[in-house]
Amino acid sequence: MMHVVATRRLPVILPSVTDELLSSWTGRHASFYEVSPLITLRHCIPEIRSLRSADLDLTNDQEIRLANMFATKPPAIRQMTFTDIAQASRRLIAARPTQVCVNCSAGLEPVPVLRGQLQGWRITCPLCGNQFRDVDDHERASLFRQYLDTALHGEKLLDDEARRGVKTWASPAGIVHLLLMRRIELPFPAEEELWRFRVLGKIIPELDHVLAESCTSFPTPQNPVLPLHLRAALLAGVAMVHSSGVEMLHMLPRSTLGLHRRRFDREAMPFFVSASRMKHSTQMQLI
Ligand SMILES: [Zn+2]
Repeated sequence: MMHVVATRRLPVILPSVTDELLSSWTGRHASFYEVSPLITLRHCIPEIRSLRSADLDLTNDQEIRLANMFATKPPAIRQMTFTDIAQASRRLIAARPTQVCVNCSAGLEPVPVLRGQLQGWRITCPLCGNQFRDVDDHERASLFRQYLDTALHGEKLLDDEARRGVKTWASPAGIVHLLLMRRIELPFPAEEELWRFRVLGKIIPELDHVLAESCTSFPTPQNPVLPLHLRAALLAGVAMVHSSGVEMLHMLPRSTLGLHRRRFDREAMPFFVSASRMKHSTQMQLI
């Protein structure tokens, strides 16, 4: 039987704002009580390692203890975390807020952080649909406006997978991984320029030039949260691959070599298998 440690309720509870992140709500209480946010959390979860780990995963027992401390229900606590986000999408959760919605940022101090601000698969606010702005540079416009409609389709595919667990022939978060892999360009570029040639550049041809003009590095498949002003290119790439089907996936690895090619083939294999099963089942239905 699960052992639930009794936790005393905080004397003053600050109301949370819609879609607020658990660490943000905890941090605002910590600020009110003039203690550190981690100490506030450890008041009822002594074993928790960091605020980030509480945002990413909570056990049922931890949810109950936090709910007692904040005088709310365990599902309300769970909704403030990324516990229910699909495993494949977890790499796309940023380590800190990268974007902000000017419509939904509440006029409170300290400013609450909303879950959508860490969702590296979004360019629009999940609450009001407004386009996000970069937290560091509010005026920086997207460099891929021409792809906006396709990018919004990619955002929906990624969001459906991440938040609703929707399964399709190819995982949109898996496609992100493939598109950020290194690409071979001929003639071979100088070694210091190799970082900017990615598989994504095969389907968004402007990308190579934009990166050469405006960046000195680019996220890797292991850490795929792109700066907001570049993100539309990636989301549009996901939508294009997803709607083009296996034909495009067969073509893309030709732009990679050696280790990168083997990695691409290995990670794309489940998508080929799934597409082939779907085709087979459609043919069977027609017979
Ligand atoms: Zn909003």
